[in-house]
Amino acid sequence: MGRYSIGVDMGGTNLRAAAITEDGKMLDKIAGSTPIQAGPDAVVADMVASIQALETRLGAAELAGVGIGVPGFIRMDTGVIAGWAQNPGFNGYPMRDRIEKSLGTKVILENDANAAAMGESWMGAGRDVEDLVLLTLGTGIGGGIIAGGRVLHGAQGMAGELGHITVSPNGYPCGCGNRGCVEKHASATAIGAMARLMKLGDNLSSQDVFDFAEAGDDRALAIFGAMGESLGIVIASLINIFNFPLYLLSGGPLPAWKFFAPSLLAEVERRSFTYRATLGSAPTRIEPAQLGNQAGLYGAAYLPLQSAPR
Ligand SMILES: [Zn+2]
Repeated sequence: MGRYSIGVDMGGTNLRAAAITEDGKMLDKIAGSTPIQAGPDAVVADMVASIQALETRLGAAELAGVGIGVPGFIRMDTGVIAGWAQNPGFNGYPMRDRIEKSLGTKVILENDANAAAMGESWMGAGRDVEDLVLLTLGTGIGGGIIAGGRVLHGAQGMAGELGHITVSPNGYPCGCGNRGCVEKHASATAIGAMARLMKLGDNLSSQDVFDFAEAGDDRALAIFGAMGESLGIVIASLINIFNFPLYLLSGGPLPAWKFFAPSLLAEVERRSFTYRATLGSAPTRIEPAQLGNQAGLYGAAYLPLQSAPR
């Protein structure tokens, strides 16, 4: 079996932990729900119990380390959750210290979208490149930037908040304080909101809107067209900034790729000189991610393997 590490994906709903070998084979996995209502100490207790269960089953001797993906802003220097919009009760919580104290070993904490980007880089769509950007389309839009095979953190660990890039100067207000953030125009939530505005229906999921589009409904097609346009504006800028070879999208709305990709790619081609310049020789790739909701687990598990001496 050899060396393995444990990756944890702490979501607002699901708490999952997996043991993964250094060549990317998943050995074992534990999945449950996150006891958010019971508070951060209860979440840490569940997380520690899952990690210890995996360690007991597979043996402590070969365990290289533990990596944990958590939602929200994390201060990388202190391991404190600095801002989790959906669960403000966790703000200011010293997550890393509490886990290390109960577990009795060091852990690596990472933002969940950064962990997912690292997972795609290690075992997913980005296996053959060193640099990529991942956008995760969900309730909001998360972002992760991998540069030279490592997560780009910025000064406090808050880099990669790509969901709050402005695509419409006077667009919909966002919880972050800005208006017209791309996550208000292209997330799964935004698709439902546009469907309501266009009188397609109330409380529709991105899957429902996809079904309408499959049936040829003009409004549903227009929603995905607008979504693609917003994503294209952002990706054009990312290409202009980074000139990376690969930009990935993941999340619930991905089945609608064929409906939003044409306007996305048209927008990128129109707005990015860098993109057009790469078309002849080594085209910039814009693609669906490959690991789905497993990406965060792989990425979290990879973090200690990347930093530990072999
Ligand atoms: Zn915002």
